[in-house]
Amino acid sequence: MDGTPVHDILVIGGGINGCGIARDAAGRGYSVFLAEMNDLGSGTSSGSTKLIHGGLRYLEFYEFRLVREALLEREVLWRNAPHIIWPIRFVLPHNEGLRPAWLLRLGLFLYDHLGGRKLLPKTRTIDMRIDAAGKPLKPLFSRAFEYSDCWVDDARLVVLNARDAADRGAVIATRTEVVDARREDGRWRATLRDVSSGARSEVRARLVVNAAGPWVDKVLASAMGRNEVHNVRLVKGSHIVVPKVSDDPRAYFFQNRDGRIIFAIPYEDDFTLIGTTDQDYDGEPRDAAISPAETDYLCAAASEYFARPVRREDIVWTYAAVRPLFDDGASKAQEATRDYVLRVEEGDGDAALVNIFGGKITTYRRLSEATLEKIEELLGRKGQAWTADARLPGGDFAVDGFDGQIAGLLRDYPFLNAGHARRLVRRYGTRARAILGQARSTDDLGVHFGADLYEAEVRYLMEQEWARTAEDVLWRRTKRGLRLAPNEVVTLEEFMEDLASRRRHEAAE
Ligand code: FAD
Repeated sequence: MDGTPVHDILVIGGGINGCGIARDAAGRGYSVFLAEMNDLGSGTSSGSTKLIHGGLRYLEFYEFRLVREALLEREVLWRNAPHIIWPIRFVLPHNEGLRPAWLLRLGLFLYDHLGGRKLLPKTRTIDMRIDAAGKPLKPLFSRAFEYSDCWVDDARLVVLNARDAADRGAVIATRTEVVDARREDGRWRATLRDVSSGARSEVRARLVVNAAGPWVDKVLASAMGRNEVHNVRLVKGSHIVVPKVSDDPRAYFFQNRDGRIIFAIPYEDDFTLIGTTDQDYDGEPRDAAISPAETDYLCAAASEYFARPVRREDIVWTYAAVRPLFDDGASKAQEATRDYVLRVEEGDGDAALVNIFGGKITTYRRLSEATLEKIEELLGRKGQAWTADARLPGGDFAVDGFDGQIAGLLRDYPFLNAGHARRLVRRYGTRARAILGQARSTDDLGVHFGADLYEAEVRYLMEQEWARTAEDVLWRRTKRGLRLAPNEVVTLEEFMEDLASRRRHEAAE
């Protein structure tokens, strides 16, 4: 026996699925090692449309199992993370010549009744000539349907699952790539590469979960030496962000002439998020970026509805990500199943492999439970599902307690402005107090990098949430990237590099 640590489970991939599985497993008492080659959530899980939704559109493809499970998850997830998840109403204008009103009504009836809706309000019909939702739209749309779904800060959902997994004993190794994994004496032996230094190390595990999202086939091929693997279909989706098109808190669901749909969603107080597209993709997932054709498509699709056209020059930010859809042979990218598939390969003795194909952000918790059921069969131990009633870090307040959290923060930290307090509660919930600590003035929060981002928050993100670079902070842990000037970003970068290097020196001494 060598001295290489042996864990029960090695999870490859720190997206929503890997982190959800790591958290569930750690909570059931397994020793877990999660390796993420970049930052947590830096793959597909930060590039979604950020909806916790049943997926109204999937009803057209008869995905009833998925839609029902996803609808049920909305209120479960909202209850467990009311800081980063909240309800949102969607306005779906009836567009003459596209889907008939009876079909929309039928779809929304099913949507309201398929999945255990208790807190979310039901669908209603609105007269767009008098309702404020009609104001930013062209006068062509006189009738619309308004229904409920939830919004999520996707990248933070990933990090909070990782945080909770670590609080329950899991090792979360970021910037750590699994470059090789082989079976040896009834165990897995995996070679890890520290992406920053190039240093190599090893871990052993009784079981491996391959949750590498769009890289799932690549892990099988390059780290496990498989030939001819083709389990997932990579489908790129892009979004544009523009200054807000309306002050209304509701989002829009627009039908396009090509049969697809797009959303226009209030985003980060001052913006509107518009997306998405569906395009088959065969490049490296990390390089996915919006194409000029997608930009034009999104601008044109939104301008079909908004009275004021959405133009290229309005765009302040774009992002693109790649869906790892289980390849069910569908002809069009938009028709490929959004459901998940788990495939187990048993090894000699122990050393099983569980591959995760597909999966939505919305269903990550159920996917994790289903994975744990398989793991428990394989490892011969029966545990209890526990995550349906377990708050994520900072989410330990009631779903109607958000304003109370802000009021409490403003009372205890009167130097905060209301916007700053609100932002902290939205990001960190009750853990905002761990950032603010004993502070009595903004001076006590340290260096101000701009847009209410202070040293105290950055230190918290580095110490508690595995942030290493300015990008981790600005585009995943917070969306301050939308507001910081380039020179402010440089100051933040320098600060983080300096702090990290001081830490390395202290650790070496
Ligand atoms: P990822 O988040 O990609 O995680 C996989 C991780 O594995 C990556 O971080 C990667 O760096 C890591 N990795 C890969 N190889 C290795 C290795 N060798 N070693 C270590 N680490 C490795 N879902 C919803 O529920 N609602 C939505 O509104 C929604 N909108 C979407 C919109 C778009 C445009 C897209 C693309 C997806 C959307 N989804 C949505 C789906 C959802 O985002 C994805 O299904 C989900 O994020 C996939 O998560 P994952 O953990 O499987 O993959």
